[in-house]
Parts: sequence; structure tokens; C-alpha cells
Amino acid sequence: MRTITLIVVHCSAVKPDQQSSAAQIDSWHRERGFHLGIGYHYVIRRNGDIEPGRPEWLIGAHCQNHNKYSIGVCYEGGLNVRGQPADTRTAEQKATMRRLLEHLHQRYPRAVIVGHRDLNPQKACPCFDAAREYADLQPKL
Ligand SMILES: [Zn+2]
Repeated sequence: MRTITLIVVHCSAVKPDQQSSAAQIDSWHRERGFHLGIGYHYVIRRNGDIEPGRPEWLIGAHCQNHNKYSIGVCYEGGLNVRGQPADTRTAEQKATMRRLLEHLHQRYPRAVIVGHRDLNPQKACPCFDAAREYADLQPKL
């Protein structure tokens, strides 16, 4: 089993009229040369459904230099109608994301929750302050 010390929150960087199921992301990532397919461990659809990506035991491909010890969680969205970065999470997505992160926090109590942009300032992803929103689920020192 991997040692998980980090949970990285992402968006799929699609506009409101675009879909990004785990299956679609899987094919996009394969086109980009990820031969194991989807780089995230979980995808949260706009309706709040969770779709599995890579199994947790498998190293992801979602955050350069941080994949080995992390879990990648991605919500469908992240761009507004003009294609600009925006927190487009629906109420259902917010509820599911909190439930999923609570569950992961219970299983990996030493994992810090961050957004992709916190590790790579070149990125806007996930377009909200994940570390602050989930401050109550951060490791207790
Ligand atoms: Zn990202």
C-alpha cells in the first residue's frame, strides 16, 4: 500500500456545456500518452455522482512531482462560459466533494488537502481555495 500524505483537488477544465466523465477523461489522458489512462483517482460529476478513476493503490498522474504519495480528486467543470477559470461546482458537487474528502481524511488522517494550484502556481486548477475550504479536514498536528 502506498503511503498517502497528500490529497490534491483538481477541476477537469471544461466549460458548463461540456461533459467530462471518468471515461472521457480516461480517453483524453490516453491520447496524451498516459498508457494507464485516467490520471485521477476520483471524478465528481456535476450531478454529484462519483466515478472511480485509478484505484487508490496505483500511483496517479495528476500533479507533477507529487503523484507518488497523493490521491487526485477531480470535479467536472472549472471553466465559465467564456472558458475562463471559475469555481463552477454545483451544490451537489460540493456536498459530494466534502463527503469524499471526509472519508479520505478518516482513512489517511495525515494527508494534507490542497488544490493543484497550491503545488503549481502556473495553474488555476481547481479554481477555489481547497486548503481553506477543507481546513477542518487537515491533519491535526
Ligand atoms: Zn489540476
